[in-house]
Amino acid sequence: GVPVAVVDGNVLRVGSRLWCLDQDSRQAALPREVRRRLDAAVIQSGDPSAFNQALMELGAMVCRPRDPSCGECPCQADCLALAAGRVAELPVRSARPAVPHYRVAVGLLEHEGRVLIARRDEEQMLGGLWEFPGGKQEPGETLAETVVREFQEELGLAVQVGARLCTIRHAYSHFRITLSAYRCVPAGAVEALRCGRPVAWVPWDRLGEYPFPKANHKIFAALGLVPPPAAGAVAPPAAGASAPGVPAADVLKGQA
Ligand code: SF4
Repeated sequence: GVPVAVVDGNVLRVGSRLWCLDQDSRQAALPREVRRRLDAAVIQSGDPSAFNQALMELGAMVCRPRDPSCGECPCQADCLALAAGRVAELPVRSARPAVPHYRVAVGLLEHEGRVLIARRDEEQMLGGLWEFPGGKQEPGETLAETVVREFQEELGLAVQVGARLCTIRHAYSHFRITLSAYRCVPAGAVEALRCGRPVAWVPWDRLGEYPFPKANHKIFAALGLVPPPAAGAVAPPAAGASAPGVPAADVLKGQA
């Protein structure tokens, strides 16, 4: 009963054609403009509910996205898109922006039977979860060089990159990654490790006790490792402390 126009997808299509509006239907400007033009008509109709319902049905049944029945449309005499021969091109719908794709390389650095992992900063996406050190490939870099650079930059460690263990793909809501995991060994003293976030040297058979991001679960599966707990199922330990199933002895506070 409220005298305002209801602008759903069907009404948006009718409005864009009726007034030959060129705004992008993915943007807020088009529904705003259609609503502005319809509001007066809704009030004049005297029955907002019936008016809105009729307009939605017109969009669904007559002014269809493809092959609209303009010959049966009660608005055909006033339809600017019909007069201009532009019905098929309205409403304008821009292409979805391409989803960015990144190539990522991580290193499984082994030393004395243990693998190095690091905990993501709380402020980061997936904050608090553990991960294998690594990062995005930069232009002109091989993936092995990415691993070497990331270990040096993030941990102050020199590593020698060995065989590629697996490559997985993963899609997040706003980007996709292709992630390659490499076996690494130290190329210098591991005591040189310097990191501003907690790190841990973990036996292979206990990696599954640490919560990792979903993309890393695919690495675990590819390598036949015991899968980690679901994110949130186990609280990640604070530096030097132990969470359930995560021995404090593995956790090293990062040295800035
Ligand atoms: S005349 Fe055609 S394009 Fe215009 S509102 Fe009616 S059905 Fe839609």
